[in-house]
Amino acid sequence: MNEDNINLNNIKVLITEAEIQNKLKTLAEKIEKEFPINEEICVICVLKGSVMFCADLVKHLKNMVQMEFIRISSYGNETKSSNNLQAIDLTLPNLADKNVLIVEDIIDTGLTARFLTDLFKIKHHPKKVLFISLLNKKCARQVEIEPDYYGFEVDDKFVVGYGLDYKGYFRNLPYIGYFPN
Ligand code: 5GP
Repeated sequence: MNEDNINLNNIKVLITEAEIQNKLKTLAEKIEKEFPINEEICVICVLKGSVMFCADLVKHLKNMVQMEFIRISSYGNETKSSNNLQAIDLTLPNLADKNVLIVEDIIDTGLTARFLTDLFKIKHHPKKVLFISLLNKKCARQVEIEPDYYGFEVDDKFVVGYGLDYKGYFRNLPYIGYFPN
């Protein structure tokens, strides 16, 4: 990334606010089909990137929802993924026999998705786990994994906005954008 380009004036919008908001409804309908309305869901918001997506998505769910938050360290301030994943702030309630919905911002290499899926299945023994991601960077995949549902496929470019950051900035944007070279 060219550091001189990194400011609000240079952002190119990739996915508009309206497109995101419309997609939330479609995704919520898919989740409803998997988790009947009379069943509870424990939604796991993977901080910090999925904060906006998760907060907006749960508003569309009609089930009884419990929200939990976990943090995985992988990127730091860089724009490249790391093989060295660590779960931090991982205090979760008992999830045995519960419906779990893991909410991510983006699947890039797939390392985080793999780590989380294994962690929940092996350690927490839920009834059912679904993995949903707003964005899917299929072309960057290093491990074979696909989310159960995703909002948009994106090219191999570094995106910001709607929860996704660059050095802590741009999470507040209501759209997804990138910095052209
Ligand atoms: P993965 O483990 O799939 O490589 O990456 C997962 C995490 O890396 C995401 O949850 C996100 O925090 C970060 N990440 C991957 N691609 C991007 C990107 O294009 N922009 C931003 N801001 N973060 C990304």
